Amino acid sequence: MATVAQNLLSIKKDLPIHVKLIAVSKFHEAPVILETYNVGQRIFGESKAQELQQKHNQLPKDIEWHFIGHLQTNKIKYIAPFISLIHSIDSFKLLEAVNKEAVKNNRIIPCLLQLHIAEEETKFGLSFEECWELLSSNEIKELGNVSINGLMGMATNTDDNEQIQKEYRQLKQFFAEVKKEFFANDDKFAELSMGMSDDYPIAIEEGSTMVRVGSKIFGERVYQ
Ligand SMILES: *Cc1c(COP(=O)(O)O)cnc(C)c1O
Repeated sequence: MATVAQNLLSIKKDLPIHVKLIAVSKFHEAPVILETYNVGQRIFGESKAQELQQKHNQLPKDIEWHFIGHLQTNKIKYIAPFISLIHSIDSFKLLEAVNKEAVKNNRIIPCLLQLHIAEEETKFGLSFEECWELLSSNEIKELGNVSINGLMGMATNTDDNEQIQKEYRQLKQFFAEVKKEFFANDDKFAELSMGMSDDYPIAIEEGSTMVRVGSKIFGERVYQ
């Protein structure tokens, strides 16, 4: 069986140069994360704030930690001092709360807005309309300690590749419209986080700049 380091390297060697690999290490312990760190991986994604805080304490300080899961406002404080990117902003309230913690830590926290593009009801995220409204609001201009660097989305969990492609294509299209309307002069708005273990090649074809790959590197997760 391939090691996690071998899995990582074989995924990485096929990625276009402009696509960043976020190794999704949720539910995996520090030693196995280190195996991929030792072959050069520096960006890791986690979906639980306290688990992320612990791993940040245990692991080398040059790791760039990304938060990819549903974030509760009362948990932001655990990650605010060090988080490199929050992929999952799905309300103004959450963005405002992140801004507040960023002020306390005297830093600017980079964020992506999460769009609901899948057919499933269960996945979090803003609709295109809600996202547009949020970006049009006056309130957002007052949040000086968050930086909106792009968009994130998860496709429907299906074997139908055309469906997945359609959803990612719509998100890319929306990204282009948002860029033009709200961020034409802002180089930081450049990231499109799309693609997981089962669908990242499609996401890359559709314009992804960040893929979030977990089980294809670390094996199937054992949920506790
Ligand atoms: C868990 C998770 C991933 C990784 O999923 P895999 O299918 O294991 O690659 C990617 N994105 C988000 C938001 C996740 O929660």
